[in-house]
Amino acid sequence: IWVGWPGCCPEPGKAAGRVVQALAELRAIPVFVPDPLMDRFYNGFCNGTIWPLFHYFSENARYEGDCWESYVRVNETFRDAVLATARPGDVLWIHDYHLMLLPRMLREALPDAQIGFFLHIPFPSYELFRLLPRAWSTAILEGLCGADLIGFHTNDYAQYFLRCVLRLLGHDHYLGRILTRERVLRAGTYPMGIDFRRFFETQGPLSSDRAPAMGSGLPAKTLLSVDRLDYTKGIPQRLRAFELFLESQPQWRGRVTLVLIVVPSRIGVLPYRDVKREVEELVGKINGRYATLEWTPVRYMSRFFQHRELAALYRSSDAALVTPLRDGMNLVAKEWVASRGEGGAGALVLSETAGASKELVEAILVNPNQVDELAGAIDAALELPEEEQRRRISSMQARLARNDVVCWARTFLEDLRRAAIERERLRARMLGSRSRGGMVRAWERAARRLFLLDCDGTLIELRLSPSEASPSDALLSLLSDLASDEKNRIVVISGRERSTLSRWFAGLPLGLVAEHGVWVKEGSSDWKTLGRVTTAWKPRILSMLESHVDRLPGSFVEEKEYSLAWHFRACDPEFAASKAQEVADELIQLTANIDVNVLLGNRVLEVRCAGANKGNAAHHFLEEEEHDFVLAIGDDSTDEEMFRVLPESAYTIRVGLAHSHARFNVRDPGEVQDLLRGFAVPGEPELRGRVR
Ligand code: UDP
Repeated sequence: IWVGWPGCCPEPGKAAGRVVQALAELRAIPVFVPDPLMDRFYNGFCNGTIWPLFHYFSENARYEGDCWESYVRVNETFRDAVLATARPGDVLWIHDYHLMLLPRMLREALPDAQIGFFLHIPFPSYELFRLLPRAWSTAILEGLCGADLIGFHTNDYAQYFLRCVLRLLGHDHYLGRILTRERVLRAGTYPMGIDFRRFFETQGPLSSDRAPAMGSGLPAKTLLSVDRLDYTKGIPQRLRAFELFLESQPQWRGRVTLVLIVVPSRIGVLPYRDVKREVEELVGKINGRYATLEWTPVRYMSRFFQHRELAALYRSSDAALVTPLRDGMNLVAKEWVASRGEGGAGALVLSETAGASKELVEAILVNPNQVDELAGAIDAALELPEEEQRRRISSMQARLARNDVVCWARTFLEDLRRAAIERERLRARMLGSRSRGGMVRAWERAARRLFLLDCDGTLIELRLSPSEASPSDALLSLLSDLASDEKNRIVVISGRERSTLSRWFAGLPLGLVAEHGVWVKEGSSDWKTLGRVTTAWKPRILSMLESHVDRLPGSFVEEKEYSLAWHFRACDPEFAASKAQEVADELIQLTANIDVNVLLGNRVLEVRCAGANKGNAAHHFLEEEEHDFVLAIGDDSTDEEMFRVLPESAYTIRVGLAHSHARFNVRDPGEVQDLLRGFAVPGEPELRGRVR
């Protein structure tokens, strides 16, 4: 079932009914959008902001609030239309830059649905994408991330997208998998194919059968150029190159004709009118300068051709000039290659900035901005030996035949199904109401209960700098309530310094662990160290870490009694990730003969005395006495040490989606507090096991 804009907005009633009925036969459902709204949405935001920006024409992009609002409204209108039609189990595939907010809107309404998105235009590099107002750019990325699978024509576009998601939303990715707080999704490369057979099997003469040019006795050649009218297509540059070619290669005058087809489009958008004028002026100039009574250098047609006519034009040309300045894919290039048929010759000149150039590598690839390079490519195409033409065409055809449009759709849909299964598998790890109920019942039955709770990222939200974070009054009173039940033993097990923990939790009857297990404190007794610890290694490592601080702006070193932490949460995430890896490698070598551990955590690199870890600290409390209920919650790799040492019967929970030794995942510290509140509320078990 297709849900889409029908190109009109008839009056409600009979006229609209007729459109609905006519489209029903095509299994299509029209979404009517009033004209003024459509204008702001389509001409305004889609083609006045996104199209130019995503094609690297940032100077053409407008940033108008009412156009953005119209974009949101039209996406909502589509959401309502889809929701009115979708049935449970339907697979939803959303297409293109007009509907980038829709995946998330649908995800909110249909959390279990399989939702795919495909972008048919380029996705720009971060430097371009960030030119959008921040609220819009994050809304677009979050909108797209509502899908299970996001497809792009080329690997570059997919990588640019992943980079924007990391930088603007903070979600890490690995091999195209993005982990948000609550879901996993994928971004991948799916170069769109064509209906290969339809073009390959086109009948009609190939141009080489044509008569020689009048008077010269030499064969005449036809160059073909087919585009929608668009400033991204590089039509003026192509015309200038053809002019330069005629000027510099006079032997071709009278023998080569450029058939220039320009299909009118988006005339409601200003830059399109300018480009039309420029193209027509250039055609006039070239023909005025070189035409003879027998020969017109450029045969210009400004209209749309149906498939049969277009296929015949494809076949009756010797070479094609497909030289957009930027193009998501470009299907004309692929169709033209297919149309050469079995064993056919022909030369394709193709922009390296068109997505199709990643597959059509046997084409004559050019930089479309360089007019003299383009003129040289025209010459090379006309002079390419016929055998070489056939070899190149047949190898491109073989690729296009394999990855045709059906294969493209099938591959995308298969991967979408897999991505949705993966999402479900991870979701099964999310602590749901049943497991939560079971946990509360086990807690109620237990006589001695141990809670091992990490602090930053688990009990309290992470901040850019650790000094900005502290426990709220609500959290302190929650911990106090929990600790007041004498069957409960509450331990906060943290990487923080003991002075900070003493200050924060003063007066509460809690067990405390500082510096990832170096220090332990029980109730009102003094802090003591667990195992043998030294500080002899610190000065050398500290100066080494400090030497990196200025090289990673925004990072800083926190010196604790028996450990050092290099924090880089506020830094450029990509630079920080590679720098941290580099520094970690250096540290591992530097500390090979010292008794310390190097640990790469969540935007922090920790160096601390070996032997001091959360696993040992957890052990310490486990061995203190028998427990018949153990609950451990943490959010980072250091907490994995704790999960690993706990008995199988323990309830272990990792905050945030990540592969973990823990049995369950929860989204965020809010959910942790909510869970803990369930244990602190006296009364009905149902109330305790309630789901937020
Ligand atoms: N096309 C057509 N008639 C024309 C010109 C183009 O049917 O007169 C079709 C062409 O066959 C191709 C599509 O329009 O399938 C253009 O797609 P492409 O990716 O080349 O460019 P876009 O217009 O999407 O930027």
